[in-house]
Amino acid sequence: MIVELLKVQTDLEYLAHFDPLTNVYNRNYFIDKFKDFVFYADDKDEMALLFIDLDRFKIINDMLGHLEGDTVLKGVAERLMNVCKEENVIGRLGGDEFIILVPKIRHMDDVHILAQNIINTLSLPYKLKGGEYYITASVGISVFPQDGDDIQTLIKNADIAMYSAKERGKNNYQFFDDAIKEKIVSKVQIEQELRHAIERNELELHYQPQVNIQTGKIEGVEALIRWMSPTLGFVSPATFIPIAEDSGMIMEIGNWILETAAKQAKVWHDMGYAELTMSVNISMIQFMNPTLIQSVIHALNKSSLNPSFLKLEITETVAMSEPELVREILLRLKELNIEFALDDFGTGYSSLNYLKNLPVDILKIDRSFIQDIDIDKNDFTIVRALIEVAHSLGMLVIAEGVETTSQLSKLGEVNCDMLQGYVFSRPLPANEFETLLSSKFPIVAI
Ligand code: C2E
Ligand code: MG
Ligand code: MG
Repeated sequence: MIVELLKVQTDLEYLAHFDPLTNVYNRNYFIDKFKDFVFYADDKDEMALLFIDLDRFKIINDMLGHLEGDTVLKGVAERLMNVCKEENVIGRLGGDEFIILVPKIRHMDDVHILAQNIINTLSLPYKLKGGEYYITASVGISVFPQDGDDIQTLIKNADIAMYSAKERGKNNYQFFDDAIKEKIVSKVQIEQELRHAIERNELELHYQPQVNIQTGKIEGVEALIRWMSPTLGFVSPATFIPIAEDSGMIMEIGNWILETAAKQAKVWHDMGYAELTMSVNISMIQFMNPTLIQSVIHALNKSSLNPSFLKLEITETVAMSEPELVREILLRLKELNIEFALDDFGTGYSSLNYLKNLPVDILKIDRSFIQDIDIDKNDFTIVRALIEVAHSLGMLVIAEGVETTSQLSKLGEVNCDMLQGYVFSRPLPANEFETLLSSKFPIVAI
């Protein structure tokens, strides 16, 4: 009896201090620890608080189930323990949020190094059901006492800095500062305004031509969303799409985009541009959502567009995140007879070798490689190699962001198939795009 009681007591004590899943401190005990350090701190002692949030955890949890999700969380805690020094305090705030206290900063460089080590170790693959999965983390850092002298404020500010890291493309760390604070306020505002954007007709699609380099003919078009908010002015999709993803609005907006683009393509087909293809960007969260197939079918049915003229663009980063899962989703969608483009290729550091496993039809080379293709020999060589590999895999290649005729002629030299960019046209409202369609070809001398 006494032995049992003692055991219960130790269990309770354990539970009062530790997170049973990951064996790091729980929120309450972490806060107590922090208060101890503040109590014993000298006037000039600084502490750092690192707020860590996994970037794609929700997807793993949704797709592979909670057991696999738990495996990831345990793995994360272990890796954190390995990169931390003994004096660091590690806690889990809940969900996929971890927190680390550096109780005495000797040199700010040490905090930078710790943050980078955390990012590096967490981005190594995790062995889960069905293969290896990649998850990255975003880290926000606040410093005691300058960013807050109580734990709540420090956590809040580290959280804000973490969001800023997510906005800067995830998989990085950011320190809290006032500029970040202002941006986050407007993020909340953007989210509020975005909630009404569809019903108030504030969203619009613009269309950018995709041109055959040989003939100068417009063969395809990419739909790009534009949002003119009456209160915020023009907000770039690069800003509001991630917010729509975070707040769960992306499916509604994404469905609107799919329907509008498919309807528009059908209108142009009926006007006589019967071969024009329509490319639609699909965001990460939208792509991973199991209802995507229904949405695509719905948009096709509603518009009566022939599926073979619809192309979906996903970025290389999406494709790389969960390779096996992405392959499955792509194959399912391909049964509908639609094609896929790998967008922004070259920015995600995936190997060329990896391309052969993906059922994609089009490779879009990122603008960063095209920008200096006419002056930078390395870029030229990379693009040439990319195109050769893509062609050998039967893919069509589109160069993104072509702005000058000299870039254009370089792309001609390396047999690039299509181009998109200001050299030909900016993205245009539907009526202006129509004017472009009806003008004589080729518009650009190639
Ligand atoms: P993206 O899909 O890679 O689109 C190409 C971006 O490059 C567009 O920016 C386009 O306006 C811009 N661009 C085209 N030609 C040139 C050029 O010659 N020079 C330069 N400097 N830029 C050029 P935009 O419209 O601001 O979109 C940015 C990103 O936002 C897109 O990149 C895409 O990832 C996302 N996005 C845009 N529309 C949608 C949408 O309807 N749905 C989703 N999910 N994402 C979208
Ligand atoms: Mg795109
Ligand atoms: Mg792109």
